[in-house]
Amino acid sequence: MHKSARSKKLVNGQEFKKCKICKENKHYTSFYGNRDKSFSYCKLCESKRVKNRQREFKQKCVDYLGGKCSNCGYDKCLSALDFHHTDPSNKKFGIASYSKARNCWKINSSEIMSELDKCILLCSNCHREKHDSLNTEYQNRTDKF
Ligand SMILES: [Zn+2]
Ligand SMILES: [Zn+2]
Ligand SMILES: [Zn+2]
Repeated sequence: MHKSARSKKLVNGQEFKKCKICKENKHYTSFYGNRDKSFSYCKLCESKRVKNRQREFKQKCVDYLGGKCSNCGYDKCLSALDFHHTDPSNKKFGIASYSKARNCWKINSSEIMSELDKCILLCSNCHREKHDSLNTEYQNRTDKF
């Protein structure tokens, strides 16, 4: 007798599992983890969740720093805005690397804010220009590129 009740856990023979977000029945290989223990969300939904989380996090950081490029005022596209450490020697961590941590804003908000205080917001164009001028300031070599 193998009439087992439908448990949340995938047991032998149950190849499909319902994703808690998109409510679709998907093969267990569509989930992270393995057959016996896998995520409640399918890979697709999980990666969307991560992207949203990262976007939300960046939006908060951007808002915190005024929401636009401090040089030219650009504010159209979130992903074209960068955080620039005004004093690289002061840099504890890159803001971008932090966005990958789970629930980063909730747990480390004060740490992040103190790091953001060392940053200015620049659009990618201004950011590149900034680093270009920094490079020539610090090294007298312009033949690098
Ligand atoms: Zn899903
Ligand atoms: Zn700019
Ligand atoms: Zn920079």
